[in-house]
Amino acid sequence: MKKIEHPNDNRLKKIIWVRLYAELNDFLHLEQQQKEFALNLKTPVLVSEALESMGIPLSEVDLVLVNSQPAGFKQHLYGGDHLSAFPTFESFDISGLATRQKTPLRATKFILDAHLGKLSKYLRMLGFDSLYRNDFGDDEIIDIAANEKRIILTRDKLLLKSPKVSHGYYVRAINKHEQLHEVIRKFDLNSQFRSFTRCMTCNSPLLSVTAESIRDKTDSGIRALYDEFFLCPQCDKVFWKGSHFKRMEELILDLIRERADP
Ligand SMILES: [Zn+2]
Repeated sequence: MKKIEHPNDNRLKKIIWVRLYAELNDFLHLEQQQKEFALNLKTPVLVSEALESMGIPLSEVDLVLVNSQPAGFKQHLYGGDHLSAFPTFESFDISGLATRQKTPLRATKFILDAHLGKLSKYLRMLGFDSLYRNDFGDDEIIDIAANEKRIILTRDKLLLKSPKVSHGYYVRAINKHEQLHEVIRKFDLNSQFRSFTRCMTCNSPLLSVTAESIRDKTDSGIRALYDEFFLCPQCDKVFWKGSHFKRMEELILDLIRERADP
């Protein structure tokens, strides 16, 4: 006898109900954002395949729920299943739920792609270990990130789709100041600023030095005006808290104010 299909049986229609949270919505078309929507897929399908079919880099996903239960990327989805995904480094509280990442990367270190040179300088200015070279290839960035436990910051969504990427973030903002604000907010870095500890040019840790020791590297006017100097042992640059520092302080105060008054 032929089995009669119930018209409301989503299992047979192969529809998966999807809801993405917070920043993951940035990867969706407007009409799919911030609500549950139907995804038509050939089932069974892996969670990872369903996410990738929507253009979501897996490295951006921290937690997946299938029918309200924590699930892995390799779990199968069937028609009628409900899939929810939460972003990596989530800023809203998901502490009650199991997370996919083993442990967060404690010391916040970055590696940036070729589009984010200015941002790397700002991050170094605030003391964050931020590797950047405009000739790093994608594979090189991915390998260095994995070996040195660095978070990848990129404007290239494709780069984050590699299965070797565990911690990566797609920077949305285009403007360099907004990018800095975005990254500070995203990774909650406000309490970790260590200004004048890292060379803005080459990322090496700076040394605090006396005016006398950098006599041949600065002019006497500068040495008369300032009493704190910092030397990069790698590229031999000298830094002091001049007008550049004043602008930097304002930027930092901005960031702190934004934190206090979101
Ligand atoms: Zn340097």
